[in-house]
Amino acid sequence: MYFIGNWKMFGSVKSINYINSVIKLAKLSKFKKAKIVYCPPYTILSEFVKKTKNTKIKVGAQNCHHEKNFGPYTGFINAKMIKLIGAKYIIIGHSENRRAGDTDKLINLKVKSSLSENLQVIFCFGETLKERKKNKTFQVIKKQIYMGLKNLKNLKNIIFAYEPVWSIGSGKVLNNNDLESQIIIIKNYLKKKFKIKNPKIVYGGSVNPNNIKSLVEIRTLKGFLIGGASQKSKKFIDIIKKSIN
Ligand code: PEP
Repeated sequence: MYFIGNWKMFGSVKSINYINSVIKLAKLSKFKKAKIVYCPPYTILSEFVKKTKNTKIKVGAQNCHHEKNFGPYTGFINAKMIKLIGAKYIIIGHSENRRAGDTDKLINLKVKSSLSENLQVIFCFGETLKERKKNKTFQVIKKQIYMGLKNLKNLKNIIFAYEPVWSIGSGKVLNNNDLESQIIIIKNYLKKKFKIKNPKIVYGGSVNPNNIKSLVEIRTLKGFLIGGASQKSKKFIDIIKKSIN
C-alpha cells in the first residue's frame, strides 16, 4: 500500500530530521507492505535522497519541465535532472499545477519524459466542485486521463491519483460508497481504454488520521496521496499505522 507524502512548497534542510521517526517505522517488519514515498520541494530532494539511502523509503519530485533534454529554460528542472539526483517518483498533473498553467498537452509531455527516465509517475486528476455539481465528474476525469496518457507506452509505471480538487486541503472527503464507485469507474476506464491490466489507483484529498480507517476499507485503492498530514510525521505515522494491521 502506497503512502505518498506531498510536501508542496513547505520544508527546509532543517525539516528533514522530522522524518527520523518515519524511517524507524519503515524498518519494522510489520510495516513492510507500506510503500512510503516522500515528494519534498526541489530544494531538498537531494537531502531526502541521502537521508533515505539504505531505507525502504523512496523520494519523488512534485513536477518537472516538459522538455526532456537539457536546455535554455531558466528556473526549471526536467525529468532527467530529477532522475540524476536519485529520485524514483514524480507527481505530474497535480491540480495546483494545472491551475498554474499545466495544460493536458504539457502534462502529456511531462509524463512522457518522466517515463523515458524510468521514473514512476504519480498522475493526478480530479474534478472541481463546479464540475461535480454539473454532473461532469467522469467526463472531466476521462478527458484528463485520455489527454495525459495519449500516445504513451509503458503505462505500468504510472500510479493514478484520483484527487477531487474540492477535497484537497478542505477537510471534505466523499463518502465511501461514492468514492468506491468512482474508483471502479476509473479503473474500468483505464482497463478498457488503455489496456492496463491492473491499474494502481490511489486517493488524495484531506486524508488524515481521523478518516483513514474508513478510507482503507475501500479495497480497490492501492494507497493514498497525502498533502498536509504528511508534513507532520506524527500524523503520517498514525495514518500508516491505522492502515496496516
Ligand atoms: C495533495 O495536495 O495532493 C493533497 C492530497 O493535499 P491534502 O492531503 O492536504 O488535501
